[in-house]
Amino acid sequence: MKALYFDGKKAVYKEDLPLPQRRPGDSLIKVVVADICSTDKEILKGYRPDFKGVMGHEFCGIVEESPDPALVGKLVVGEINEGCGDCLYCRTGREKHCLLRQTLGMSRDGCFAEYLAMPTRLLHVVPEGLSPEKAVFTEPLAAAFEITEQVKIEPGMDVCVVGDGRLSLMIAQVLALTGAKLTVIGRHPEKLDMYKTFARTVLETEYRTESGGVKDLTADECFDVVVDATGSRSGIELSMALVRKMGTIVLKSTYAGKTELDLSLIPVGEISIVGSRCGPFEPALRLLSEGKVQFPPVELYELADWEKAFASAAFKAGFSFE
Ligand SMILES: [Zn+2]
Ligand SMILES: [Zn+2]
Repeated sequence: MKALYFDGKKAVYKEDLPLPQRRPGDSLIKVVVADICSTDKEILKGYRPDFKGVMGHEFCGIVEESPDPALVGKLVVGEINEGCGDCLYCRTGREKHCLLRQTLGMSRDGCFAEYLAMPTRLLHVVPEGLSPEKAVFTEPLAAAFEITEQVKIEPGMDVCVVGDGRLSLMIAQVLALTGAKLTVIGRHPEKLDMYKTFARTVLETEYRTESGGVKDLTADECFDVVVDATGSRSGIELSMALVRKMGTIVLKSTYAGKTELDLSLIPVGEISIVGSRCGPFEPALRLLSEGKVQFPPVELYELADWEKAFASAAFKAGFSFE
């Protein structure tokens, strides 16, 4: 089969990879659409040097073989973390935190391939009428929902998302549905335009001093909840300045570097810092199928053109296997 394979250093396009072997409990899925995520780009930069295998973790496909006959022929999406099944985390519903977990396209074969084998229990059937091109947003959108599971967001709260990229657009649309007063802070006026129907938008420069620091802000200018979706040191620093006393900062994007923060601000201001990763699929699928969240169209490529796809400046690029 065709696949985009990571050999530990670089991506290699192959046409002669054998079909994946199903282990007990696995389903075999024919991939219809698979999208590129920034994590895939990080892998090419060396984020997972020990990984060798098929790349990709965001997909929508059709079940061809399964221990659950009712699933055969169904369009599905899949959760990406597979736990060991018997550790404390796995036994208490926290499989994504299993220390022995395997993650699709990061530590086990992923979905940039014609076929993929994965545990049946991690699959979710796509509701009737939802296209594969839209359903593939389930995984990243579920990550946005994780915030609402972790932080109590009430209507009337001042909530802010820092960043105007893909992740931010998903988070902001989910948070807008809570009825909170939402502000999105970004660097790109043309990207901020996409938020204008449901959020107040502010250019980051409004908060910056001439030397690049953060202006002194009044309590009114700050927020009860600040979500960092920038994945950058400067975004985290800005989030620290934007949060109100007794407020919460949600670190949503994985910032791989180290950063210096004045930790005294946390006890003195009674600030909570919440780390947030993968989230629940079902509400994400429901929202997508009800059309309550909207994204620009995905730019789809043939897998052989993976370099063009990875270099695309589109909101989201991916691969079509049909
Ligand atoms: Zn992803
Ligand atoms: Zn486990």
